[in-house]
Amino acid sequence: TQALLSRITAHESLGAFLHVDTDGALVRAAKADELIAAGNAGPLAGVPIAHKDIYVTADMPTTAGSKMLAGYRSPFDATVVAKLNAAGTVSLGKLNCDEFAMGSANENSAYGPAHNPWDVTRVPGGSSGGSAVAVAARLVPGTTGTDTGGSIRQPASFTGITGIKPTYGVCSRYGMIAFASSLDQAGPMARSAEDCALLLSAMSGFDERDATSVQQPPQDFHAQMLAARDGATAAQPLKGLRIGLPKEFFPAGLTADVNAAVRAGLAELEKLGATLVDVSLPRTELAIPVYYIIAPAEASSNLSRFDGVKFGHRVAQYDDLLDMYKKTRAEGFGPEVKRRIMIGSYVLSHGYYDAYYLQAQKLRRMIADDFQQCFGACDLIAGPVAPTVAWKHGEGKDNPTQAYLADIFTLPGSLAGLPGMSVPVGTGEGGMPVGLQLIGNYFKEGQLLHAAHALQ
Ligand code: GLN
Repeated sequence: TQALLSRITAHESLGAFLHVDTDGALVRAAKADELIAAGNAGPLAGVPIAHKDIYVTADMPTTAGSKMLAGYRSPFDATVVAKLNAAGTVSLGKLNCDEFAMGSANENSAYGPAHNPWDVTRVPGGSSGGSAVAVAARLVPGTTGTDTGGSIRQPASFTGITGIKPTYGVCSRYGMIAFASSLDQAGPMARSAEDCALLLSAMSGFDERDATSVQQPPQDFHAQMLAARDGATAAQPLKGLRIGLPKEFFPAGLTADVNAAVRAGLAELEKLGATLVDVSLPRTELAIPVYYIIAPAEASSNLSRFDGVKFGHRVAQYDDLLDMYKKTRAEGFGPEVKRRIMIGSYVLSHGYYDAYYLQAQKLRRMIADDFQQCFGACDLIAGPVAPTVAWKHGEGKDNPTQAYLADIFTLPGSLAGLPGMSVPVGTGEGGMPVGLQLIGNYFKEGQLLHAAHALQ
């Protein structure tokens, strides 16, 4: 803990942390030492970690990357945080992220960007940018992230680390500040699939305080990751595993460097015994408009709670209640958040609801059905996480549509609620890391981790 706290200070310029809790961390580390000395500690006891600043914490401030929550302190811990505390992890602080998890570059944080440790002139991806940077720069061995439309997988890909978004409902959303509730999911980011498996086992589980939490017994994802497949051999641990390659995930416009790295990863999976099969997800392109209707619609509703009364920021001077609401929200929210609230309110409004929101919901169902069609022919689906490597700071900042388009490969799985992960498979332009995306059927986290572990 002490060594990493000094390392965090030495690398402050990366912008990974929004808050470092030195004193609290040392207390937690001492407690973990006691647990270990008493002989009843699990594998995560004493392991320093840090949380995306979208999880509320009682012992540290929570901002969600927004000025709206500057100085906010939650009276309770998010379930994921409480579970990881109970497992003996030592939380060192809170990590930078896009404001309310809206973004793909961590450039929408009200507290400044985070920088990619592979090349600090480039973005680390987002919205869990700080979580990715902290692991990639070896500031902590593991972090929590959240993934609504790719926010764990894409920054993991951009920084050469491993991240998994489990099936919707596997981790509790209680205390995770809501962006788009039907899509938001917690997950770990770490150096390897093995570390992710250990963290996910501790983070997940039924929670009666989240109405969409799945009623399933506690899972040992590490054991599932290690479990040998029927017919597997030492040289071919993935023998019999069918990996589907949706042709829409390899469009003509896919950059050559990402294509090459992903193909190399697939060739490696083949050597390990997997068979590659061609499949199709015909509505892949539609996932973009569908997501960018549904997510803002839900965000416009979720963010109505930030009204200057109940939480955080309130404008200093105002005339009456309505004026206070307006000025507080104008001052507290950044441009991307305002854009989403406007889009969301528009698609939900009378006269447009049927044309946009309802259509999007119907297509969402069809996208999920397409995946089930694929899973008839394969066990896992593979492809790129993102069409490019991490871009330079500032690029795409003035063009939100361009950033939305770059989410094409992560959004379909999110809309379907499927588990997905990013596994580093090589480098592309500028020596920047490239991640391979693996998508599993519902509750197949163990299978995903098994394949990723074999690859690593
Ligand atoms: N980039 C996507 C967005 O801006 C996904 C964000 C996320 O998964 N939180 O909405």
